[in-house]
Amino acid sequence: MSATAPAQASDWFSHEIVGQDITRIWEPHVHPYFRSNIFNVRGRDVDLVIDGGMGLVPLRPVLNLPRAKPVVAVATHIHVDHVGALSEFETRVGHREEAAFFEDMADEHTLAHLFRAQPEAVGRSPNGAWSPQRFRIRPAALARILDEGDMIETGDRSYRVLHLPGHSRGSIGLLDERNGDFFAGDAIYRGQLIDDLQGSDVQAYRKTMQRLLQIELNRAYCGHGEPIGQNELRSIARAYLDSAR
Ligand SMILES: [Zn+2]
Ligand SMILES: [Zn+2]
Repeated sequence: MSATAPAQASDWFSHEIVGQDITRIWEPHVHPYFRSNIFNVRGRDVDLVIDGGMGLVPLRPVLNLPRAKPVVAVATHIHVDHVGALSEFETRVGHREEAAFFEDMADEHTLAHLFRAQPEAVGRSPNGAWSPQRFRIRPAALARILDEGDMIETGDRSYRVLHLPGHSRGSIGLLDERNGDFFAGDAIYRGQLIDDLQGSDVQAYRKTMQRLLQIELNRAYCGHGEPIGQNELRSIARAYLDSAR
């Protein structure tokens, strides 16, 4: 596939059903380092879109969201690979520690400059006018600021907001305490965890890992890669704590 052939919106994203009323969406043509997950939770009264990918191709049209139903877009944290399409949704929520950053989406917080500088950032052009230098993330000020312990309700599910700093200051997870579904953002996933970015904090990350070891969950829907179970999550957390830092 030539890098100059523009993608069609319909084939920019891949998706799979990963749980009851939960779809995982990702961007296969984005460099693996930045290839993140977007989750759509179809609730009884409210749909959730958890994270927004790179924003290189409009996301909302491919989600087929019911027109009259409210949508809440949850940002697990401010990084470029999770907030690109956030501005497509009116109701946006994220953690207090990073709330101000959504208003201007400055590179120093989104780290978009790392994507621009990445050789082969995309394997094919997302649109006819694509150039890494022109890549910008649209501002998407938050409608609601989240704190530890807040609840996000869909009508048939309740998600508790967990503040999980370390990877970034305002990283959050969402836990359904009834069925153990856990949306982890970049707090934990299968693969190399990143704790050396601007805004990262190793000591805070260690505390987050200790906390994750205590959480009873069924399945973790992570910011990158495939969903993992509790045993795998705990072994990743233990490995992080055991590594010399
Ligand atoms: Zn991140
Ligand atoms: Zn990420």
